[in-house]
Amino acid sequence: MTAMPINSPSPSAIVLDPVVHAANLSALQYVDGVLNMDGLALDVLAERFGTPCYVYSADAMTAAYREYTDSFASVPHQICYAVKANSNLAILHLLAQLGAGFDIVTGGELARVLAAGADPSRVVFSGLGKQPADIARALAAGIACFNVESEAELARIDRVAGEIGKRAPISLRVNPDVDAKTHPYISTGLKENKFGISHQDALRVYQQAASLPNLDVVGIDCHIGSQLLDAQPFADALAKVVELIEALVQIGIHLQHIDLGGGLGVRYIDEQPVSVAQFAEYLLPTLKRLDMKLYLEPGRSLVANAGVLLTRVDILKPSAHKNFAVVDAAMNDMIRPALYQAEMGVIPTRLTDDAQPAKTWDIVGAICETGDFLAKNRVLSLAADDVLAITGAGAYGFVMASNYNSRPRACEVLIQDGTAHLIRARETVESLWQLEHIIK
Ligand SMILES: *Cc1c(COP(=O)(O)O)cnc(C)c1O
Repeated sequence: MTAMPINSPSPSAIVLDPVVHAANLSALQYVDGVLNMDGLALDVLAERFGTPCYVYSADAMTAAYREYTDSFASVPHQICYAVKANSNLAILHLLAQLGAGFDIVTGGELARVLAAGADPSRVVFSGLGKQPADIARALAAGIACFNVESEAELARIDRVAGEIGKRAPISLRVNPDVDAKTHPYISTGLKENKFGISHQDALRVYQQAASLPNLDVVGIDCHIGSQLLDAQPFADALAKVVELIEALVQIGIHLQHIDLGGGLGVRYIDEQPVSVAQFAEYLLPTLKRLDMKLYLEPGRSLVANAGVLLTRVDILKPSAHKNFAVVDAAMNDMIRPALYQAEMGVIPTRLTDDAQPAKTWDIVGAICETGDFLAKNRVLSLAADDVLAITGAGAYGFVMASNYNSRPRACEVLIQDGTAHLIRARETVESLWQLEHIIK
């Protein structure tokens, strides 16, 4: 076997043409070799705000939201942004102003959307373990619907509603048992998953719901997984849900809305997700026949590619076996690669003429964990101090950040109307132990 020269990419290496990659993401473009987001140079923002730093584009989020409302304009609909994807108040406020509703999963997210100025009548409450106090707050606020995941939860919501003298609008999250063909950790619509009520049990549980005194049965809900690239699993799920809707009519239960959840995928490296318009085309004939209000709960597809994580190359460690680039972001800032084996784009913020020869690098953080990597086998020309942009970082990025290794969480910046606004300051080290007590 001939030795492979270290500079040539290994068979599994990922080579991204940065200019082509940026051109595929609406918020990014190279201008004279400098990576811009909405006309602002990202390396200048890295200098101004420091790194690691999340930067988001309000225009890209707005465009992604409008793509949904335009594509589904021919049916009554409400887009409920899944708050868990990115819950910064400025982003929630932006989406609320555009008319978005919200899909929340905790009392904390309820408080956030209310603080951001959301219209509670456009909020749906999902999640497996809604707490009684949170149910009471959501009822008091007047949310649109509780998406109920179990019989025990149905009884709990009925009881809480009775206690405070309110009626609770509910829909059942049914598990259509379709294979979303996505990563097992983000597939939720198979019968072995913990989510929802099985197709077989659904009619019986609906009858039970209808018999409870403080519930209004208003809808049906499903959410089959995340980062789905095809429309087919959604169409399969819709067909299963329509079967149930028709069976419910037979027993006198008439629903007002159908909620198809979120889950539409995005391009991270070279994925070719179905567009929102194509996705709509697939579903609209059935939806028009149904004559019900449509709810959708997109998270990732509204914000992922509206954001980057900026990180500075700290130390280069080339070796005969492997080249490591240690950067100042780490798994505590962005856990998707470690948690889901997710591949994310990594591109330079400046294309220089005197670039180093390209090598195959693992982009790693400085945390004492072998799993602390942001990308593996990337062909890049790197020098210490270069600022890199990790693309697709607007969803499931900052929200999953931790303080592991006593690392303050990164700052967040939103570009809106041509100006970069700090929407969350970088945490201070002192703030990390503010809630801790030394026993004297
Ligand atoms: C996570 C989740 C969503 C959003 O999923 P995306 O893949 O980010 O679009 C929507 N609804 C429910 C119930 C969820 O759990």
